[in-house]
Amino acid sequence: MSNDRTESILNSAFLKEYVPTIGIECHVQLKTVSKLFSGADNNAKEAPPNTLINHIDLGLPGALPVLNEQAVILAIKAAKALNSRASNFSKFDRKHYFYPDLPMGYQISQFDEPIILGGYVNIYDPINQRAKRINITRAHLEADAGKNIHPDKKNYSLVDLNRAGTPLLEIVSEPDMHSAEEARLYAEKLYLLMRYADVTEGNLYYGNMRFDVNVSVSKTNELGTRAEIKNLNSFRSVERAVNYEIIRQVKLLEDGERVVQETRGFNDQEGTTYSLRSKENADDYRYMPDPDIPPIILDDSYIDKYEDETNHLPDYYIDKLRDLGIDEVSSYILLDYELEEGAGILEYVLSLPKNSVKPIVNWIINIESPIILKLANITNNKINRVHSLYEDLLSISQEGLINSNSIKELIKKLFEMDKPPKDLRLYIKELGLIQNSDTKELESIVKKVVEDNPKAFNDLKNGEQKVIGFLIGQVMKISNGSANPSIVKELIEKLI
Ligand code: MN
Repeated sequence: MSNDRTESILNSAFLKEYVPTIGIECHVQLKTVSKLFSGADNNAKEAPPNTLINHIDLGLPGALPVLNEQAVILAIKAAKALNSRASNFSKFDRKHYFYPDLPMGYQISQFDEPIILGGYVNIYDPINQRAKRINITRAHLEADAGKNIHPDKKNYSLVDLNRAGTPLLEIVSEPDMHSAEEARLYAEKLYLLMRYADVTEGNLYYGNMRFDVNVSVSKTNELGTRAEIKNLNSFRSVERAVNYEIIRQVKLLEDGERVVQETRGFNDQEGTTYSLRSKENADDYRYMPDPDIPPIILDDSYIDKYEDETNHLPDYYIDKLRDLGIDEVSSYILLDYELEEGAGILEYVLSLPKNSVKPIVNWIINIESPIILKLANITNNKINRVHSLYEDLLSISQEGLINSNSIKELIKKLFEMDKPPKDLRLYIKELGLIQNSDTKELESIVKKVVEDNPKAFNDLKNGEQKVIGFLIGQVMKISNGSANPSIVKELIEKLI
């Protein structure tokens, strides 16, 4: 189905009668040094197959798993990020199934007493400008399986167990989302939360966060039969898969057919989902407590200690920035920049005097990424330089010395320099960027522009207000961008 077709079906009348309901399970790979129950290296990214394994990962008879405390500490931090708290008591269970990448014949997971119960995630919908809370059912620790590889056109398959035993935190949401967009916003926020809590490297390319989405549609108050789309590894594919699935299910129901409860895959190229297998029920797995692993018993003081060590989380910054007059859309952009560039942008913004926050945030957001990229490459010492530069620029623009176009140009120039100019004001003069507020001089340019563009000026006289932008633009051009645009506007208006 093409995107246009999807769009037209999404907007069609019959689809509007159905309410989609979406719940998401997300497997977050925890950034421990070693695996969840073995001392093998947990960094499988580029390692040759089957080089990061030991007797425990191979499930050799008699091998005894030993819980990695680091994974527990990261779960405590993740709980805090989910507005929850790690349980004082949780335990591990065996989840039985057979697959070649699971040598033990069962996955070590947590069944009825997980390390995290409850919690919530705040999302913000920028289009409808609405905040929403998505509730968390639970999150549990479990060991990842290995990877089956099926070489093209070969009559054999291969197994790589490097990833077997990698610690995962599986976060299960309530079915609180009702559109593909909400599903994507939730996935994006979960990513921010886990990155800020510093519990995962969050490398989506390497599958550090994998999303399974449960989608159903219904015309009534009762939930419809759901399908689960497994292993989505980008925010975009979460949104596309949910959209596709909503339409597929509505079409089935409108055709008088049934939705079957099943597990489906997502074809990223085509944007379609396809059936993998009918869905197993929980009891198919024959869960049983794992007798080899003692339960996790955590004192409150132990939990408190690692909660206190958790970094500031996204909502902390969003709240602080809101108090400073920064809207949520801008705050989320800053939160992303901070992660991408690690440049201390957030702490810097929060340290600004209240009245300079807004213009400086606007510069950071609007003056393109070269600045941000530059920030990433500079040492702390230079960051201070950037900060004082912004403050100088602010006072210069507030004095009306330079217009906003020229400021952008100036900031770009300054970042290309190895050393900042000694006297910024002098430098601006030398560049010819000083804003020209000389009414006499500007008057003669305005006159010339009006004479050269008689049609535009006539249109303006006849009430076509938007033409004034064009005329101001012409004056800016002739003045090499130095004219004070508000004075130019006044002068043109006087001539009408
Ligand atoms: Mn799982």
